[in-house]
Amino acid sequence: MAGVRAVKALRRKGFGGEIVLIGEEGELPYDRPPLSKQFLTSDEPITPRLLEAASFYDTVDLRLGVRATALSLRDQAVTLNDGSSVAADHIIIATGASARSLPGLPDRIKGVTTFRTAADARRVREAFDEGPRVVVIGAGFIGCEIAASARARGLQVTVIELRHSPVIRDVGALVGGTIAALHRENGVDMRFGTTVSSFVADKRIRALHLSDGSRIEADLVVVGVGANPRTDWLDGSGLLLRNGLACDERCRVIGGGGHVWAAGDVASRPSSRFAESLRVEHWTNASEQASALASNLLDPNLFRPYDSIPYFWSDQYQHRYQIIGRISSSDDTTLLHGTLRERPFAVAYHRDGRLRGVVACDMPDVIAQARVQLDDETIQLSPT
Ligand SMILES: Cc1cc2nc3c(=O)[nH]c(=O)nc-3n(C[C@H](O)[C@H](O)[C@H](O)COP(=O)(O)OP(=O)(O)OC[C@H]3O[C@@H](n4cnc5c(N)ncnc54)[C@H](O)[C@@H]3O)c2cc1C
Repeated sequence: MAGVRAVKALRRKGFGGEIVLIGEEGELPYDRPPLSKQFLTSDEPITPRLLEAASFYDTVDLRLGVRATALSLRDQAVTLNDGSSVAADHIIIATGASARSLPGLPDRIKGVTTFRTAADARRVREAFDEGPRVVVIGAGFIGCEIAASARARGLQVTVIELRHSPVIRDVGALVGGTIAALHRENGVDMRFGTTVSSFVADKRIRALHLSDGSRIEADLVVVGVGANPRTDWLDGSGLLLRNGLACDERCRVIGGGGHVWAAGDVASRPSSRFAESLRVEHWTNASEQASALASNLLDPNLFRPYDSIPYFWSDQYQHRYQIIGRISSSDDTTLLHGTLRERPFAVAYHRDGRLRGVVACDMPDVIAQARVQLDDETIQLSPT
């Protein structure tokens, strides 16, 4: 996402030079959000939605199915796993994040998968067609979306979560409780405060034992326990690795001598707005950060600090959750609209009297209003 958006922004802003775009996956870049939603729920098998049509890459040296394995600051070059290397005046790192696995999960058991790529989504989609008993490990947003999609297909679903409520972007127990209630209303067996202690498998997964002593029969297990920034290939490069790639406010990677840039899930950056360093794993951030990066790269005299307000959405059943700002389960919360027993609703998150963000279910107008108000901290949202 961030890589393609950076290319698009560079061309749109008039850059006519050579661009090499390198991607490990062997297919044209596609959009990830539909993978856990429409891709799994559609009655007919569908193909991933491309970020750009094939003709978009006519002016780009596109190298798919190859992985960058090292970066040399001295040579300003990236080594690839096909034995070649690419030197450049500027290097943009947009390697995203990879799905975390579980400690103790044996490799390659049939019927167990993480979920990040179109290949993962195809595997799950094919498994759904066989009517499996589904277990989702992790009640983060990916886990919750996959549970909702499985229920939309009429499948038996259990969700296992170590914490005591869904952990979607650290919404906290209050809002998390309403999300758990939505899943229960829709027939999901939600198990909180427990984790997997062992897997029962022969050639394929059969069941799981949980730390609370229970056993769950399973034909398909989807592990959704978060993601790690993909910086392993940059160890020893001299770039500053701190919660991903540490960047300055212009999207330049610290330690990269002004020639190495980063955007998207892999990049952490200072936020004066929230007085902390942020690494944001959201679609909108990948797009906006890549565009800001392109402006800064093309015009070094332009100082366009990137400090946009994080925004995220998640579709579950017929509902859309939206989160704007930088919220935490330790923030104070105020109910802005509705009640937490029903939908729609909206909740504001505050710290030290300052608005930090808003979570809304089916209330896009409140999110739009919150965006304006987060931009102008002097105005505070008030309950209605
Ligand atoms: C299933 C799913 C659903 C999502 N739904 C939502 C949603 O509803 N709302 C929302 O706001 N966000 C959502 N997101 C998050 C959003 O898709 C990401 O924030 C966004 O894709 C990040 O873009 P990126 O370019 O940083 O990383 P990616 O999209 O992950 O792209 C990184 C690319 O780099 C490649 N790569 C990695 N390492 C190397 C290497 N060494 N060499 C070559 N190539 C490499 C990877 O293969 C990958 O293709 C979802 C994510 C997933 C996985």
